[in-house]
Amino acid sequence: KKMQEKKEEDIKARELLQELKGKEDVTVDGKHIKLYANIGGVKDVASVLANDAAGIGLFRSEFLYLEADNYPNEEAQFQAYKTVAENMAGKKVIIRTLDIGADKQIDYFDMAHEENPAMGYRAIRICLDRPEVFKTQLRALYRASYYGTIAIMFPMIISVNEVKKIKEIIAEVKAGLDADGIPYKDVELGIMIETPAAVMISDLLAKEVDFFSIGTNDLTQYTLAIDRQNPKLDNIYDSHHEAVLRMLKMVVDNGHKEGCWVGICGELGADETLTETFLRMGFDELSVSPSMILRIRDKIRNTDLSVK
Ligand code: PEP
Ligand code: MG
Repeated sequence: KKMQEKKEEDIKARELLQELKGKEDVTVDGKHIKLYANIGGVKDVASVLANDAAGIGLFRSEFLYLEADNYPNEEAQFQAYKTVAENMAGKKVIIRTLDIGADKQIDYFDMAHEENPAMGYRAIRICLDRPEVFKTQLRALYRASYYGTIAIMFPMIISVNEVKKIKEIIAEVKAGLDADGIPYKDVELGIMIETPAAVMISDLLAKEVDFFSIGTNDLTQYTLAIDRQNPKLDNIYDSHHEAVLRMLKMVVDNGHKEGCWVGICGELGADETLTETFLRMGFDELSVSPSMILRIRDKIRNTDLSVK
């Protein structure tokens, strides 16, 4: 009997959520927020559309590399990014550049063993150290930008200098496309805020980019000094830690002062118990797994920020 009741509840909940399709992501008192989806590959776009997300807030592009036996070439990457951009039909698609190392190892990158890989050779550090790999991805991304609304963001940033180097490489890539007569569009550039260093200099970083997207999974791990993959520490891994929440607010305020929009793409973005807090902090975007979109929409639409 209990199982039957639970089943009926689930069906009712699903029906309610279906009603929310096509509805705006707006609070009772009229505050809008962008609700985007996180994906790991081209095939996930179907569930993004089925769940009515307004865009893609995090495309973890490393899956193109993880699924291959060798470096995916420019053409293969271009086709993947173009397909996602076209299928999203003009809605924003934020693609994160290669984020490997730490928990994501790839044999053909031939990386040396590290004692402490989470703090090691990973993400943007590898890309800046191996510009030929980075340029291939950027060229594919810029080529694909012509077919939709692509934005690019960079993982594991700790300094302004890294962002300046990235921009220099982008300028070279664009010059190459110009020389070859290949069209591309203006692309919004953003960074992931997922290190305490990036939080503390977010006022300076905000002058360099169009948007911030907070990677709360890594930010929490580095702030609390708790390995996100160590189950022994699960009982002290406090995703609502005041230190993390203060950092989120700091990043929103510093971003907004310089005209950057600010979102969250880490798991915390889908925490319904914090949706109201995020709205009050002033976040512009939340990017969550496709299956959470309509639940968060329901939460947003039932929130009234005029009630203290
Ligand atoms: C994060 O760190 O919060 C994030 C979104 O990136 P990933 O989980 O892929 O490291
Ligand atoms: Mg991360």
